[in-house]
Amino acid sequence: MTIQDFPTADWPGGKAAAVSLTFDVDAEAGWLGEGDEYARRLTILSEGRYGVTRGVPRILDLLARYDISATFFVPGHTAQHHPAMVESLLDAGHEIGHHGHLHLRSDKVSEQQQIDEIDKGLEALERLGVPRPQGYRSTSWELTPETFGLLVDRGFLYDSSCMGDDRPYVESWDGLEILELPVHWSLDDWPRFGWNIDGGGNVADPEELRRCWTAEFESARAERRHTSFTMHPEVIGRPYRLGQFEQVVAHMAESGDVWFARLDEVAELVAPRLLRVAS
Ligand SMILES: [Zn+2]
Repeated sequence: MTIQDFPTADWPGGKAAAVSLTFDVDAEAGWLGEGDEYARRLTILSEGRYGVTRGVPRILDLLARYDISATFFVPGHTAQHHPAMVESLLDAGHEIGHHGHLHLRSDKVSEQQQIDEIDKGLEALERLGVPRPQGYRSTSWELTPETFGLLVDRGFLYDSSCMGDDRPYVESWDGLEILELPVHWSLDDWPRFGWNIDGGGNVADPEELRRCWTAEFESARAERRHTSFTMHPEVIGRPYRLGQFEQVVAHMAESGDVWFARLDEVAELVAPRLLRVAS
């Protein structure tokens, strides 16, 4: 059962589409979590840090100009090392979601390390006064049965790591359920631009991002569904890329037909309907 199946799929304000802009603030943790060898790779660490230094402020400026509240997934390690950035997100009224602690991939580590990723990430955010996260996004979108069980056990309202539909749905595993606000690689900046000396994306033309994401919005509008876009401040925060992304935002805003919403706002709206029907 999905939100599309309900007769009252209208979004607040009678808007046809609901759109969530989401940003994963990996910073240095994005590389440190890949292996111990990254601890001495100063250049690659500095590129992660650029997301905090320059990317986040640029993104906050753009969001403020369009009066949009967004969702930022912040690893515990990133929060600990960049408390002023966390404060700037909270001051601007954005949602902070859980994105692990050391940005370890669930499928690559032990069950105990998965527990630590969840609990230490929660503790790091709590220490900085961040409201208890309602949502979780797994590192590299790799979700395991162990972490899935932890999300249910720790009482998360939603997950945003899976790709089983293109609108909110219920993801289930071994008798457990969680509200899923799905993602997709094609709606992510990383596969396009996430290049480094070891490999990665193809340093794509940012106009391709503008065309594809505008088309995604128009399809969501036609189907009256929710969609979300995933970005990384060190990636989309490069000015020539952000300029193209802003054109997508401007197109959506000018349509007058979009409800820009944080993921927790979408979750709170759809969870009672989806989870009641599924259970
Ligand atoms: Zn990440």
